[in-house]
Amino acid sequence: MTRPDGRQTDQLRPISFIPNVAPYATGSVLVAFGDTRVICSATIEEDVPRWMRTQRVEGGWLTAEYSMLPYSTLDRKPRDISRGKLDGRSSEIQRLIGRALRACVDLKKVGQRTIWIDCDVLQADGGTRTASITGGCVAMAIALNRLISQGKLKDFPVKKLVAAVSAGVFEGVPVLDLNYPEDKAASVDFNVVMTESLDFVEIQGSGEEAVFSSDEMSAMLDLSRKGISEIISLQRQAILTADRAAPADLASLAAGFRK
Ligand code: UDP
Repeated sequence: MTRPDGRQTDQLRPISFIPNVAPYATGSVLVAFGDTRVICSATIEEDVPRWMRTQRVEGGWLTAEYSMLPYSTLDRKPRDISRGKLDGRSSEIQRLIGRALRACVDLKKVGQRTIWIDCDVLQADGGTRTASITGGCVAMAIALNRLISQGKLKDFPVKKLVAAVSAGVFEGVPVLDLNYPEDKAASVDFNVVMTESLDFVEIQGSGEEAVFSSDEMSAMLDLSRKGISEIISLQRQAILTADRAAPADLASLAAGFRK
């Protein structure tokens, strides 16, 4: 079995993080997993949803929105607003992103604030939800570090970094981080979310019109664990260097893409 882009079965696509692409957001990053590119931002609002105030729930809230830009796919995808309804797939994905990120942040430490995570897909080539979670976590950490530097927060509220990756069975072989041609042909598709301690946060797995064995599932989870530990160290580096990076300009975006 040869993968369409020649990767090893346990090899991630080239992953990069370009911080500060949206300077008006509290934190932002453009994350690339191969040709999949997602703009992730975290904006901190100094308020909580009304239900939290009414029910006197302590701490803050985190919510996520996900959308594919019309030109992110080979065939133009109309914006939801022009179709008059939210895409079912997008609403499923944004709830997954919200759950994944809420699992890694201590909302009590966030105070009475709402963290808005916005994930907008610039180019879709498989794995947009896992790239969104991975980039969303980086954008959130950058934003929370900024609140600390501004003296608005005392402790860093992120308990553990969170990252996600896909794995699947392609031509009978378990492989890591599927691109679109692999995703389309795969008999089984898993999306795995884990913390930096390699504990699971969520697993979405389905055999689309196929079944999978327990050995295949273990193999996909092992691949995901390996991939996620590599992704976490790249996330950490991106978070640590973000404040030294100037707002991203076109030249640095282009350089990031050439990596
Ligand atoms: N895709 C597309 N149009 C859509 C939905 C998906 O072109 O409306 C493509 C896109 O490349 C995406 C891939 O199909 O990355 C796999 O979609 P899936 O729903 O499995 O989500 P993802 O893998 O992006 O998280």
